Amino acid sequence: MPTATPDPAPRPGEPTPAYGGEVAGSADAATVGLGMPGFTVPPGPAFDGHRPPDAALAGDCVHCGFCLPTCPTYVLWGEEMDSPRGRIDLIKAGLQGDAFDASSVRHLDQCLGCMSCVTACPSGVQYDKLIGAARAQLERRVTRPRTERLLRAAVYALFPRPRRLRAVRALLRAYQAAHLGRLLARTGILRRLPAPLRAMEELAPALGPAPRLPARTPAAGVRRRTVALLTGCVQGAFFPDVNVATVRVLAAEGCDVLVPRGQGCCGALSGHAGREDEALRFARRTIETLEAADADAIVVNAAGCGSHLKEYGHLLRDEPGGWAARAAALAARVRDVTELLDELGPVATRHPLPVTVAYQDACHLAHAQGVRAQPRRLLSAVPGLELREPAEPELCCGSAGTYNLLHPGPAGELGDRKAAAILATGAQAMVTANPGCWMQVGTALARSGRRMPVAHTVQVLDASIRGLPAEQWLAGALDGPGTTVARTAGP
Ligand code: SF4
Ligand code: SF4
Repeated sequence: MPTATPDPAPRPGEPTPAYGGEVAGSADAATVGLGMPGFTVPPGPAFDGHRPPDAALAGDCVHCGFCLPTCPTYVLWGEEMDSPRGRIDLIKAGLQGDAFDASSVRHLDQCLGCMSCVTACPSGVQYDKLIGAARAQLERRVTRPRTERLLRAAVYALFPRPRRLRAVRALLRAYQAAHLGRLLARTGILRRLPAPLRAMEELAPALGPAPRLPARTPAAGVRRRTVALLTGCVQGAFFPDVNVATVRVLAAEGCDVLVPRGQGCCGALSGHAGREDEALRFARRTIETLEAADADAIVVNAAGCGSHLKEYGHLLRDEPGGWAARAAALAARVRDVTELLDELGPVATRHPLPVTVAYQDACHLAHAQGVRAQPRRLLSAVPGLELREPAEPELCCGSAGTYNLLHPGPAGELGDRKAAAILATGAQAMVTANPGCWMQVGTALARSGRRMPVAHTVQVLDASIRGLPAEQWLAGALDGPGTTVARTAGP
């Protein structure tokens, strides 16, 4: 199977190339509320008394601007109100009683929630808590234009619902098997679809069979831990091979792996969008399901889900009936799979896997969970593997939960920029830790005409432990389930 021919890697000491060129000229159309009829924003103070943003947290911002170069929307548009500092000022104004208008809502909507500003901030401003609280208020109080309402309703009726996702998966598999995507592209129908639908079609990964995971997989050799795996909605439906590899690697490293039945959505997508009641409902159900598994650790292999589970204590902080304590206790047991494997240390033999990979930090792993060194250590310990670092690692790829569906324009620009950075490393494959980043960057790579094998960190470890030949692994990662379908756009 042919693999992409990458550009030569920059030599050590060469200046870091810049991607994406000058500030894009799309700020007005994208951000300031021009041409956006249909918003109904309540008059009077922007926030009501139910869990408003914390004024003390907003007051921590000293306006130094260190966060600006790491903020993807500021990098795209150079617009102060689309920077973390500008958004904090908006929130402060709202807390002082100012009303919001469509423009203010849009500035907050355009935030990707990537938390790059949180790690960049020397003053420790908890922007994550501020935007989370502001989003929940906007979601309850603002009425959006009808088409946007319908799109949001459709997205949240589908993605956090594993059963519905499985049904869509079956339809999509048939669609892909019949090569309908190519046909629609050749006839020009795809180009005429509304942008969010086009984005959904583009982002859909190649689908293969989805094997059912055993409820319990025993540790190979001496048992070191008993862990429960969160299988995830999008991960489970579109990237089942990642879950299969996760179970195999954990078992090889001495873990009894439980896959609790009846798992639903953890609520990450809903929480990210400010859909508070829905997020709380999903969280309570997830806590019940995972508590019943009675494991030493809850293992997560999707960065967005892992960071959300770790925030359960905050999310359910004032829930009565003992939920607050249960949420905090569960959150304390959550580990990203790379965090746990790094903690345990290897016992399974690693066979050589002579490949060059570019590791792309998922924002919700690096910024939200602070897990950066562990996946790099695990990958570097694979004999023969060479790890390369793309430029601008702190910049989000534009996936950001459902951001690439709700804001396909800026998400596409960020995806292209990330794809260029990955290609410039000269690596043979990209490795990441989140299904959203995988689809987003994989799609951008395919759009550039430079497809590249993409894999999760555990799939690299799995290939090494199983002794797969590098060519076989690269070919599988280029065309196997979960990778992006290469479509030739246009007739
Ligand atoms: S979360 Fe990301 S997009 Fe939002 S303000 Fe911070 S850096 Fe910018
Ligand atoms: S959020 Fe932090 S880094 Fe950004 S302007 Fe405020 S204090 Fe400075």
